[in-house]
Amino acid sequence: MQAAVLREPGQPVRTEMVSLEPPRQGEVLVRVAAAGVCHSDLNLADGLMGTGRWPLVLGHEGAGVVVAVGDHDTEPRPGDQDAELRPGDHVAFCLVPSCGRCRACRAGRRTLCEPAARSSLLGTMLDGSTRLRDVRGNRLGHAFVVACFAEYAVVPLAGAVKLPPLIPLWQAALLGCGVVTGFGAVKSAGVGLGDSVCVIGCGGVGLQVVAAARLAGAGMIIAVDRDAESLERARRRGATHLVNATSGDPVETVIAATGGGARYCFEVVGKATTLRDAFEALAPGGTAIVVGIAPRGTEVSLPASGFVSEKTIKGCYYGSGETHAALGAYAQMAIDGRLELSDVISHVIALEEVEEALGRLRRGEGSRNVIVIDEQVAGRAS
Ligand SMILES: [Zn+2]
Ligand SMILES: [Zn+2]
Repeated sequence: MQAAVLREPGQPVRTEMVSLEPPRQGEVLVRVAAAGVCHSDLNLADGLMGTGRWPLVLGHEGAGVVVAVGDHDTEPRPGDQDAELRPGDHVAFCLVPSCGRCRACRAGRRTLCEPAARSSLLGTMLDGSTRLRDVRGNRLGHAFVVACFAEYAVVPLAGAVKLPPLIPLWQAALLGCGVVTGFGAVKSAGVGLGDSVCVIGCGGVGLQVVAAARLAGAGMIIAVDRDAESLERARRRGATHLVNATSGDPVETVIAATGGGARYCFEVVGKATTLRDAFEALAPGGTAIVVGIAPRGTEVSLPASGFVSEKTIKGCYYGSGETHAALGAYAQMAIDGRLELSDVISHVIALEEVEEALGRLRRGEGSRNVIVIDEQVAGRAS
C-alpha cells in the first residue's frame, strides 16, 4: 500500500510503497478514508518530540472503515471497550489506546495510560513490535500508535472508536485529535455560562476550543492568532473578539477587553512565549490550560506574582477525559447540526501532498489540512 513515510527529521515526507501485516489478537485493520494533518505530525517530522521513532508512517488523526478484526480473547478484557468492532463499522482513530489496567487507567486518568504512552514514544504497537515494513523489508514505526497517512492502518482495538454511519468520514477524521483535544480541554476546565475565555492559537485544535467554549455558554471568547484567515474562522465558530498578535501586545489587548483579564486562557500553540501570555492574560483567580504541545526541552518562566492572585496553570493532554465516550458524543453533535466540523478545514489534499501541508503548518498558514485517501469511502474528493 501507499503510505507517507518520515525517514528522518529534516527530510521531506514522501509517499512510499510499504507492507502492512494483518492485525493480531486485540488489533483491527482499517481502510483509511481521510486523515487530518496536526501540529504533532509536524513536531514529529521536525524531530521536536524526541528521537528513536523513525523511520515511521506518519498520521494520528483520521477515520475509516473496519476491514478485519484480529483473533481476540473469548473473555473481553477490561479496557477493550470496542471488542465488538465488526468489518464495515465506521471508526475514528484514538491515539491513546488505553489499557484499562495500568495505574493511570485504574485512577480514571485514561489519557495518561502508561503502556499507551510507552508505545507512542517508541512508535510501536502495544506489544512493542510493528506491522509495517518498507520495500526492502526494513521495519517502519507507527506514529502515535495510529500511522494513518496510509491506505490502511492496523491499530489496537482501543485505538478505534465506532462511529454512527451518518457522519461523513472526511469530517469524522477530525474527531480523534482536534475535536477531542479542544472540546475535552474546555470540558475539563469547567467553562460555564458567561465566563470570559481567551484562546491563543486558532489552528485545527484552537478552533475546536472556540466552538466548545461557545457551546459551554462562555460570555466573551477572545481569539488570538497571527493569521487573519484563522481569526476569521474563529469568528465564524463563535469568537466574540479577534486579536491579531502581529499588531501590538496581545496580553494588554485581552486585559483591556475583559476589564482585568480572562477567567480562562487556553494555550493552543506550544511555545514558551504564548504559555507565558496565557498566564499573564488571566484575571486574578483565573486558570490557564496548556493544550499546545511544546517541543521537548522547552522551558517556561512565569511571573510568580500571579500565584498571589491565585492564578492556576495546568496541563491538558488529549482532552483529559473518557475519550471513547467523548468521541461518540461529539459525532452525535455533528450529526445533529450542533457541531460544525468542516469549517475548520482549510485544505483538502491527496496523500502525496503531506509535505506541502506540513510546510503550511510550519508557516502558520491555513487551519486543518485533511488528506482524502479513499474518495468513495470519505464522501469527498481531494
Ligand atoms: Zn494531533
Ligand atoms: Zn492504561
